[in-house]
Amino acid sequence: MANNDNNKDNNNFFNKNPLITFAILSVVIIGVFKILVGTNGGALGNASKRTEQVSYSKLKSLVNSKSVSKVEIGQSYIKATGSNGAIIYTTRIVKGDTKLVEALDTQGIEYQGFSETNWFTEMFGWLFPFLLIIGIWMFFAGRMQKSMGGGLLGMGNSKKMVNSEKPDTKFDDVAGVEEAKEEVQEIVDFLKYPARYVEIGAKIPKGVLLVGSPGTGKTLLAKAVAGEADVPFFSVTGSSFIEMFVGVGAARVRDLFEQAKKDAPSIIFIDEIDAIGKSRANGANMGGNDEREQTLNQLLAEMDGFGTNTPVIILAATNRPEILDQALLRPGRFDRQVLVDKPDFEGRVKILKVHMKNVKMDGDVDVEEVARLTAGLTGADLANIVNEGALLAGRKSQKTVKQKDLFESVERALAGLAKKSRRINPKEKKIVAYHESGHALLAETTVGAKKVSKVSIVPRGLAALGYTLNKPEENRFMMQRHEMWAEVDVLLGGRAAEEVFIGEISTGAGNDLERATDIIKSMVQTYGMSDIAGLMVLEKSRQSFLGGGQQATREYSDKMAENMDEFIKSSLQEHYEVVVARLEEYRDAIEDMVALLYKKENITGDEVREILISFEKKNNMESKVDNTLDEITEELKVDASMIDKSQVESDED
Ligand code: ADP
Ligand code: ZN
Repeated sequence: MANNDNNKDNNNFFNKNPLITFAILSVVIIGVFKILVGTNGGALGNASKRTEQVSYSKLKSLVNSKSVSKVEIGQSYIKATGSNGAIIYTTRIVKGDTKLVEALDTQGIEYQGFSETNWFTEMFGWLFPFLLIIGIWMFFAGRMQKSMGGGLLGMGNSKKMVNSEKPDTKFDDVAGVEEAKEEVQEIVDFLKYPARYVEIGAKIPKGVLLVGSPGTGKTLLAKAVAGEADVPFFSVTGSSFIEMFVGVGAARVRDLFEQAKKDAPSIIFIDEIDAIGKSRANGANMGGNDEREQTLNQLLAEMDGFGTNTPVIILAATNRPEILDQALLRPGRFDRQVLVDKPDFEGRVKILKVHMKNVKMDGDVDVEEVARLTAGLTGADLANIVNEGALLAGRKSQKTVKQKDLFESVERALAGLAKKSRRINPKEKKIVAYHESGHALLAETTVGAKKVSKVSIVPRGLAALGYTLNKPEENRFMMQRHEMWAEVDVLLGGRAAEEVFIGEISTGAGNDLERATDIIKSMVQTYGMSDIAGLMVLEKSRQSFLGGGQQATREYSDKMAENMDEFIKSSLQEHYEVVVARLEEYRDAIEDMVALLYKKENITGDEVREILISFEKKNNMESKVDNTLDEITEELKVDASMIDKSQVESDED
């Protein structure tokens, strides 16, 4: 992704501000031109004859001596043709002098008035700057086309403005993101053998959203899909659409799709799709960015425009799927999301190996050691570390890269990242490990809770320091009351684990508690699931006047509000106590989970269940774990527990 491109910084002021440059140049040119054409008809007036500027009195004496044959009198100056016709004298008029005309009459010299601008200077006067301006416009347009890889207003060569490549990247080059690779494997197959799928009538996804922090390999994965399928790869950045003049973004989208369809089967890759796909409902965009909206609408229209039979797949990358316009995520558009996560320990080993393949490594290099030191770093960081190491070794005229060089390069990378605070320190890691294990235990041992599919302490780029992924049982459109209470328990599990195992609580559970509170509140207010309000609905949601989301109206007494607050508080407390008891009951199992998390950083739901069941067996307990679930696809909804609020805020623009 863009983060790793240095060439963006090379652009100077003029490239970045074409319109300003354009305006300055136009003014300068017009100014210069005015001086040139200005008074005296300038050099451009009578190009063929020699002109000589003389004083008024000199001209008078020339007239009196009959050395001129013809005189033309304008508003501000006089032209007199010499008697041999080869020279033109010019002089400024002296206002109020009538003697000259008398002298001309006396001498019998032909004279006439003239308008100081003729058709030539007149026309040239406005045509010349105009032509120049057009010339400059085209020059910049050409540049922009080049730098953005796309067309401007469809001028001139409107074809072949979007460049494609045929990458030779393969899946082997993308390491540590096995699940993501599996998910896109199907696309490769479809692009390779479209006929197979079309004949059978299968619907292939048109759009796939690659979700993950910058540098996790989304671009690389997209390229690898093209490389594996051996199809053209059209790559654009979302922001490049809207950096241009109004109306251009939409036109470019059209060109892009036209080109991709012509070269089908093919892949379109849109990096940073959030730049065009930001939610329109978002109040922050009031007043709107028309250019962005037009571009987005064009994109939606294009995606709807071609059938599922056309073997063009659109891959888009973002690290903030939550801010995307819902319209983009509808069926037939980007209805699939693939998580391209930061690598865990094993993943980092694999990525390091990929990048060490083409570098001469010393025998003393311990890849696992390097992987251990780089928790929380992305593939791009790791690639960088290997390269830095090679540069260091080169500077020292070594033949190979030694472990020492890699350590040095890791240190540099970490120092750089410490500022961005994306790496958790050991103390935080411990808190996160217990917190997430707490969620996992409650999810597995509470009737009605969603089962765990993955627990992770690899910090996610978005905002979460760790996370627990839950499996949806099936597509759910409603929840039963006991399931809502189960969710409350799971949410409380994180905070409770911190208290039980660390003996101190942190801000990490803020989001969990907020959600738990909301759930109970909605049970009282909206779903008639509590004794205090009974079946009475306390809050109606109404579409707000401007269509910008929901506005709630309060329709209950202060007494009811008080009761509700009391109910929420006491039920949270009640459930918290149950949760604490559960954690204490499963103390050793939690310790096992934490140990495994420390070692592997990511653990699967199966591993969690294995730990719990063997713990229950050892202690002759009746099992609370439901281990009958078979493989269900993972829900790409991160439990945003352990939210680092400061990060969330600084992430928002
Ligand atoms: P993103 O698009 O997610 O920001 P990129 O695909 O641009 O990330 O990654 C930048 C570079 O980092 C890649 O070209 C590659 O060298 C390296 N890289 C990132 N992720 C991986 C990975 N999973 N395996 C191997 N290399 C990776
Ligand atoms: Zn949590």
